[in-house]
Amino acid sequence: KKIDLIYTRLRTEERMILDALRKRECEVQLHQDSDLVLSLDAERWSGGNVVLMRSMSLTRSRYVAAILEVKGARVVNSSQAITTCGDKILTNLALAAHGVPMPWSFAGFEEEACVAEIERRGYPVVTKPAVGSWGRMVARIEGRSAAEGLMQMRFETGSAQDHVGLVQQYIDKPGYDLRVYVMGRAVGGIRRRSEHWVTNTARGAVPERYEVPESHAKLAERAAAAVGADIAAVDLLETREGEILVNEVNHCVEFARSIESTRIPLPELIAEYTAGVHP
Ligand code: ADP
Ligand code: ZN
Ligand code: MG
Repeated sequence: KKIDLIYTRLRTEERMILDALRKRECEVQLHQDSDLVLSLDAERWSGGNVVLMRSMSLTRSRYVAAILEVKGARVVNSSQAITTCGDKILTNLALAAHGVPMPWSFAGFEEEACVAEIERRGYPVVTKPAVGSWGRMVARIEGRSAAEGLMQMRFETGSAQDHVGLVQQYIDKPGYDLRVYVMGRAVGGIRRRSEHWVTNTARGAVPERYEVPESHAKLAERAAAAVGADIAAVDLLETREGEILVNEVNHCVEFARSIESTRIPLPELIAEYTAGVHP
């Protein structure tokens, strides 16, 4: 089976996935995203029919996926899934449309309107960039002056495409969040524990093994389906009362910091899934 793997850098993840694909007798063509120049026409893509998108750049992965789809490739994940997962407002909207439980959230387009709505809903709330990752610029707002300062920063810095306020209910987690990996079905998960309320492993949270209960697996599968993702890491927030809410869906699964301690064979699972995709 021919598979094209598109990457930005061959990180631990990409190397392990590559090994796993080759072990399954797949013929893998590597393409660095920075080298790609793609004509905007419907001429067939010269590579194989299945493309595994591992670009670290949202801009590149979204455009390259969209272009290769028109050229007849089946891209994992699809351009539509990348677009939805790459934007937390669109993600929340897709979850809401499919009745998937999530923290309440709203989008606003002007500083004072956002502050007024936060005041109306009450504190604490969370604000984060609609497009972002690794826990960057995720902020908890405890009162009016922080709300004003953060919303002013949101609307007076950055460029036009950044000028949208995303505000969410703050979920008081029990010291961790949960991540369930879905590839058609839930294949495993990790718990990310931290002293800090932001529990990204990129921010120092410690990954632990967690046996995914059936109810969490089902919820994660529904979330992945809602955003149209083939392969996804679904982040769940557990409330102190034990209620489970979907926080976000990641379209490019990273595991370099967690695979040692959690032992979920993600590279093999990703290879197996990709090799089984019908072009
Ligand atoms: P990123 O894409 O940067 O990972 P997230 O929305 O997943 O952005 O936020 C990063 C982390 O911040 C989450 O893993 C979680 O620990 C914490 N977090 C985010 N939103 C909330 C929220 N509404 N309530 C409580 N914690 C949150
Ligand atoms: Zn994310
Ligand atoms: Mg996250």
